[in-house]
Amino acid sequence: MVDLDVVVVGAGFSGVYAVHAFRSAGLTVRAFEAGDGIGGTWFWNCYPGARCDVESKDYSYSFSAELEQQWSWSERYPAQPEILRYLNHVADRFELWPCIQLNTRVTGASWDASTQSWTVATSDGGSVTARYFVSAAGCLSEFQVPDLPGLDSFAGPWYHTSRWPKEGVDFAGKRVGLVGTGSTGIQLAPEIAAVAEQLYVFQRTASFAVPNRNRPWEEAEEVAFKSRYREYRDEARRSFLGVPITGTGRPVLSEPREDVQRLFTERWQAGGGMPFLGAYTDLLVSQEANDVVAEFMRDRIRETVLDQDVAELLCPRGYPVGAKRLCQSDEYYAMFNQPNVSLVDIRSAPIESVYPGGVKTAADSYELDALVFATGFDALTGALFAMDIRGASGLPLRSAWATGAQAYLGVAAAGFPNMFIITGPGSPAVFSNVVLSIEQHVEWVRDCIVWLRSQGYTTIEPAADAQSAWMSHVSEVAGATLFPRADSWYVGANIPGKPRVFTSYVGGCGPYRAKCDQVAAAGYEGFVLGGAAES
Ligand SMILES: Cc1cc2nc3c(=O)[nH]c(=O)nc-3n(C[C@H](O)[C@H](O)[C@H](O)COP(=O)(O)OP(=O)(O)OC[C@H]3O[C@@H](n4cnc5c(N)ncnc54)[C@H](O)[C@@H]3O)c2cc1C
Repeated sequence: MVDLDVVVVGAGFSGVYAVHAFRSAGLTVRAFEAGDGIGGTWFWNCYPGARCDVESKDYSYSFSAELEQQWSWSERYPAQPEILRYLNHVADRFELWPCIQLNTRVTGASWDASTQSWTVATSDGGSVTARYFVSAAGCLSEFQVPDLPGLDSFAGPWYHTSRWPKEGVDFAGKRVGLVGTGSTGIQLAPEIAAVAEQLYVFQRTASFAVPNRNRPWEEAEEVAFKSRYREYRDEARRSFLGVPITGTGRPVLSEPREDVQRLFTERWQAGGGMPFLGAYTDLLVSQEANDVVAEFMRDRIRETVLDQDVAELLCPRGYPVGAKRLCQSDEYYAMFNQPNVSLVDIRSAPIESVYPGGVKTAADSYELDALVFATGFDALTGALFAMDIRGASGLPLRSAWATGAQAYLGVAAAGFPNMFIITGPGSPAVFSNVVLSIEQHVEWVRDCIVWLRSQGYTTIEPAADAQSAWMSHVSEVAGATLFPRADSWYVGANIPGKPRVFTSYVGGCGPYRAKCDQVAAAGYEGFVLGGAAES
């Protein structure tokens, strides 16, 4: 006798919707969440300045028209506390709490072929059996602290942005070191600089950042927009990024120079990364085209930052714009004009050690009262590998993916029957408006389970050849773009020893959705189905 139909790991956007969708389909479900609240990314990353860089009207659930109409976002780009309130509102509104167990980490899950079920072990010493095991553990949830000699000896407090104290941190009058200048570091730095005596920004790689131009979402604008929300969502689902973007439809290299400058300037003034890089068709496929947009952005840095030596150091070089996650900030570059902010180049003089009073680089020492790491995540696979997942014949997921993650359609892995991964490797997730990608995966998995039941099947697992064909396609599509060309978390370059593989599908959300639907319509083509009743 199996305890549950489905066990879900995690209660962020994915887990919360999975609980609702599976339960609404008549399945028994329980989600285990390691944190003491729901929200995932927006529960853990509560550092000052944390904000979504996809607009609120896009970065929200589309499954309920009533929810869409009734919830009101206050700003164009929502800040972390508001997104967290939204997710709690969703859990209240759809009465999801009885199916969510907080403060409970899934430590392992193993497939039992004899009972055709998963046994899921949890940190409270318990275990539960389920027909299906669904990971909603997040693409960016396993955080990383660099292995710096002497960190344990540091006399002051140190923080990682993804485990920020709920009660906040007072940096007033403090000398603070910030390590990490990706999306998070760029959001946080101006907040620290506003209060700290001195902020040292330790930069290994300069990031490209476009302005947000954040502003309140006015009521009249909201009412007008919401009158066609359903049509807009349909467009979003068919779009490339999960957000409808209007581009010129032409390559930048074929455009007159003045027109290019005019359009980039307009989009720079309007704010937002997706419309900016979506302006022309070749920006992410041709290095020469990418150089045009890169130089436009470097010019904006030079005109913002007064000290030209600092500006040059802030100018990103050596990788294409967009091949690392494009950052968004209205304040980051201008912050370097403040007298209490120093940029420290740790590319030419790396951090050698941490000592009780601060940080020593190959060139100098910096006396610090507090240290902050905005050093990101073991993306895509980190949270999966943190669990001891064992598939058919006890095969550990870690071994199956030793040379790189492999998942058919980015949602299921060969050798792991009845296991699904929401926004898994091989899907477009991190290259999209993730909430829409989450909904698409959850609904596809729900429909799959319902169909299996209706047909009398008890197991499903990708065929190895279908999986490798999909991953070859993922790699081929990526190879035609500039995305794999940077040392980014997209390729695992931030994690020592991680195989360098680009596993995200960059062929577009719309085409990806169509492919998933086609596989389903063909009776889950490419999957091996088991246990069907004799027809
Ligand atoms: C700082 C930051 C900013 C971001 N900004 C954007 C943005 O602007 N736009 C965008 O589209 N995306 C953004 N993202 C990506 C974001 O992660 C997704 O948009 C989305 O929130 C992911 O939801 P999720 O539920 O899949 O994963 P998560 O939100 O990561 O939730 C996973 C949950 O699973 C839990 N968990 C993990 N392992 C276990 C376990 N073994 N047992 C129990 N629980 C477990 C975690 O505690 C976590 O609560 C951002 C990510 C970060 C980190």
